[in-house]
Parts: sequence; C-alpha cells; structure tokens
Amino acid sequence: MYKTIEQIQEAAVAEARTISDNEALQALSTRYLGRKGILTQYLRNIASLPAEERPLAGKKANEVKLRLEALFKEALVRLENRDAQSGPSIDVSLPGRRLSHGALHPITQITDRICEIFSRMGFDIAEGPEVEMDYYNFEALNIPKDHPARDMQDTFYVSENVVLRTHTSPIQVRVMEKTRPPVRVIAPGKVYRCDSDITHTPMFHQIEGLLVDEKVSFGDLKGILTAFVHQIFDEHTRLRFRPSFFPFTEPSAEVDILCVMCRGKGCRVCKQTGWLEVLGSGMVDPAVFQNVGYDPDRYAGFAFGMGIERIAMLKFGIDDIRKFFENDLRFLRQF
Ligand SMILES: [Zn+2]
Repeated sequence: MYKTIEQIQEAAVAEARTISDNEALQALSTRYLGRKGILTQYLRNIASLPAEERPLAGKKANEVKLRLEALFKEALVRLENRDAQSGPSIDVSLPGRRLSHGALHPITQITDRICEIFSRMGFDIAEGPEVEMDYYNFEALNIPKDHPARDMQDTFYVSENVVLRTHTSPIQVRVMEKTRPPVRVIAPGKVYRCDSDITHTPMFHQIEGLLVDEKVSFGDLKGILTAFVHQIFDEHTRLRFRPSFFPFTEPSAEVDILCVMCRGKGCRVCKQTGWLEVLGSGMVDPAVFQNVGYDPDRYAGFAFGMGIERIAMLKFGIDDIRKFFENDLRFLRQF
C-alpha cells in the first residue's frame, strides 16, 4: 500500500494520464475518491495518528483530494472534447431516409391529361355548378319529363326543381347561353347518380366536350375523337363508332376501343365482345340549339362525354372503381 499522501497523489496522476474512456475514468475516480477509496481510507486513518501530526496530515490529504477531483474533471472534459471532434461514427453506405411527398390523384392526372389534349386542339375549359337546376340538367337537353334518365333511382333530387347534376352536359347549355359560336369547350367535373357497385360509385367524374360552328360535320367529330383516343391510349388503338341514342344529340354514336386487355379476342373485362365503350357522342340536336337561341339552320355542332374513372381504369388496368375513393395509400402510391 501507499505509505504517504504524496505517493497516493503520484499514482493517481500517473493513472489518470493513461485513461482513454469514460468508463475507465469513472472506475479510477471511484478507486481513489469512492466511499472505500484509497484516499478516503487514508483520511479515515488520520484519526489514529498522534494528535500533533493530525492537523498537517488532514490539511495535506484534503489538498490532494481537491487536486484529484480537479484532475478527474479535467480528464472528463478532455474525453468529451475528443468524442465531439471525432463525432459519432457515420455509415455512409446506409440508405438515406426517404422524404415522402404527395402526388396527384390518378383521377386528377387523367383529367389533366384529357384537358391538355383538348386544349392543344383549341378547346377552352368550362365549369358549372354541381347542384344544378332541373332545367339545365334535363329540360334544356331535350330530356322530357317522362324520360327514364329522370327516374328517382338515378337522380339525387335536392328539391323538385333542383338536382345534383347527373352528367356534365348542363355545362354545354350554360356555355351556349352565354356565348355565340364558334364554341369549343371541354368541361370536367363531378357528377352524381344513385348507384353503387364495382363499376359505379354515387359520385364520379365526367368530361364533356362541345364544338359548335358553321359547317361542322360528323366527320369532324370522328376526326377529333380519333385524335383524342390515339393520344390518351396510344396511336395504334383501334376504335369504332357504334350508332346509339342520346336525347340531346342526333345522330348519336358510342365510341368503342379494341379491348386493351385481350386485344379483341374477348375476355371478362370486355364481356367477350372484344370492344370497350369509352365515349358517348353525337351531333347536337337542333332542339337543344333552339333552347339556347342558336339558329339550327346556320350552326351545327357535336358533343361528347366520357367517364374519367372509366378511362383511368382502362389506362391503368384497375378493375374496381371504388379503389379511387378509398384513399388507400398502397393503391395511390402506384401512380
Ligand atoms: Zn377483352
């Protein structure tokens, strides 16, 4: 054991120099200054010294105690500085933390794309109210009171003369009331029908197009819609115009594309027909022109409409329309 207080101090100083981490420093401090530490023991033993030696020995021992405390504190600061300079070790090969950011909803993406295609062909974008007058939704579009489209099953009535619009077609009427030909507009928006299953939701999106001018023919309708289908799907997409009926167009045609799933062979998606319906269209009925004060002998025009979800489902290969509205991130992140 150490004989003198000087020896204790010397040994502690020497050991403190070799300390390289906090744990060792803690152990060293305990060994000298702890309750059973070397210096503590020494201080206790002073009581057994001859009375005349006690004051000096006590004074010296206390000085050493203070010196050691300072020494250990310095060593601690030195270790902390060293750690701060070298910093925590960084593994540069670890993958970075991904910042997640939002993206446009697939319906918005398709709407934007459709608007862009028609904008380039000279169409302006028009909007109208979702809560619509019965007159604009039906009457002005040549849909008489007894037409099946007015059935309570399909239409949400707000009151007798106010409905949630069942299609974007009332926007045509509102645009024509306010402008004189030539007219070229497309009108995207939400529409409502009392219907719900894997291909129908009570709210969905349509986009409506209208072109009115002198000398507009069915050939123009075919040309514009063919150009559109080739741009929204691809330029090799085959399409056909199939005679149909809409109260506000005459003649009317539905536009089918060759099934994108089976390429015309017949499958579940196209119900074995090989074709998929994507658009409704036709030449504006003269009765509609009369309702908005256009001269049907001078002007002609065509209108078309499509369900945006339908286009998105075909383009992205989605089989359940409800997925668009469930806000499941696993679904939405794929777009
Ligand atoms: Zn098919």
